[in-house]
Amino acid sequence: HTRDYQALDRAHYLHPFTDFKSLGEEGSRIIERAEGVYIHDSDGNRILDGMAGLWCVNLGYGREELVAAATEQMHQLPYYNSFFKTAHPPVVRLAEQLVKLAPAHINRVFFTGSGSEANDTALRMVRRYWALKGRPDKQWVISRENAYHGSTVAGVSLGGMAPMHAQGGPLVPKIAHVRQPYWFKEGRLGEGRSQEGSPQDPDAFGRDCAAAIEAKILALGEDQVAAFIAEPVQGAGGAIIPPESYWPAVKEVLEKYEILLVVDEVICGFGRLGEWFGSVHYDLKPDLMPIAKGLSSGYLPIGGVLVGDRVAETLIEEGGEFFHGFTYSGHPVCAAVALKNLELLQSEGVVARVRDDLGPYLAGRWKALEAHPLVGEARSLGLIGALELVDPASGERFDASRGIGTLCRDLCFAGGLVMRSVGDTMIISPPLVITRDEIDELIEKARGALDDTLARLTD
Ligand code: PLP
Repeated sequence: HTRDYQALDRAHYLHPFTDFKSLGEEGSRIIERAEGVYIHDSDGNRILDGMAGLWCVNLGYGREELVAAATEQMHQLPYYNSFFKTAHPPVVRLAEQLVKLAPAHINRVFFTGSGSEANDTALRMVRRYWALKGRPDKQWVISRENAYHGSTVAGVSLGGMAPMHAQGGPLVPKIAHVRQPYWFKEGRLGEGRSQEGSPQDPDAFGRDCAAAIEAKILALGEDQVAAFIAEPVQGAGGAIIPPESYWPAVKEVLEKYEILLVVDEVICGFGRLGEWFGSVHYDLKPDLMPIAKGLSSGYLPIGGVLVGDRVAETLIEEGGEFFHGFTYSGHPVCAAVALKNLELLQSEGVVARVRDDLGPYLAGRWKALEAHPLVGEARSLGLIGALELVDPASGERFDASRGIGTLCRDLCFAGGLVMRSVGDTMIISPPLVITRDEIDELIEKARGALDDTLARLTD
């Protein structure tokens, strides 16, 4: 039946992020079911999902408690909105729970259906905040190159991916981008290294990246910038773990020019870095935190924006009606599942286990992959990690047109592991319920894929 599904797929389904024509040759992999950290395809293969779907299935697959929470809520109240002074129990309980988990200055939540909508909402909120404060000129938002903040028009504009900017027409005005704190690319292999080839000190590099934000602020006009948006660790942009110096220096710059901080927690939230939020790991005090993905472990679509006191109080006290909302803002079934998901993450101690046990365990095993001739750097934090592929002959990047990362990804899948490739950077972000044994399996399969890739190069 794989062929039947593939034929239907090819005939009718326009996939996200896919070259439509490419399905003509091989057809899609049909994923039929999943349990724990494994997905199963229609040919009977069991594959370790090293990406937790799209960085979201934090609790792993097949959790009956989440199914029961959804079913119960479906019977009770399958849908109602929270427009025009209505609410329902799951949404208010979820808001309360999120506020308990968030940093102390955050006491309000706005719900959306996705991470993209959460970032759209954040953009409208920051501009509205400054208008209400009598500073309507503060409209520019600074983001980072290669950032991913979603696929709506505002999400694409906030994001910094050139191929996305090139498609679909004009972007939202007054959004600027600065360099990523991508030490391996710039400090180790790029312009930062010395003439003798030694890498730039990572902390000096991190401070340079913060200085680039200040330079951009001055170029745009120091009283014109509303907000800076960034992920704590940039995910789809390449699992970029910033040098330790980066965030403290960024915070200083933002405070100096009275600029709001929007921390996109869509990937880092709910335990990925070993804390409830990436902002806790880096000791950030965000004004707004867009969330999604791990909020429901991906079982149902739900997102939101956690709103810090200074913005919330202004919107509430001075704003009147905020003309903004989605049919599925705080959908009761999605909210009930999210609430149960948070309860299970807490009662099973998942987040602390990532911080104290699984994160350090993965870090040790992952770092050892640097001994492989194809690997220029292996980095990880909590349960997110990246391998930088380099040409063993030179230690430099491969020519991008060779598509080595894609080759490695495909060999990896054939060997029973989902790893993602961003150019020649291989990424993992497994479910947070992965065991040590399963981490060992992940490492061995990743090593196997690297060996297979190397063998292809020398064929
Ligand atoms: N922000 C980040 C950091 C993301 O990684 C994503 C999705 O990958 C989004 C926002 C968009 O979320 P969604 O796909 O739910 O719209």
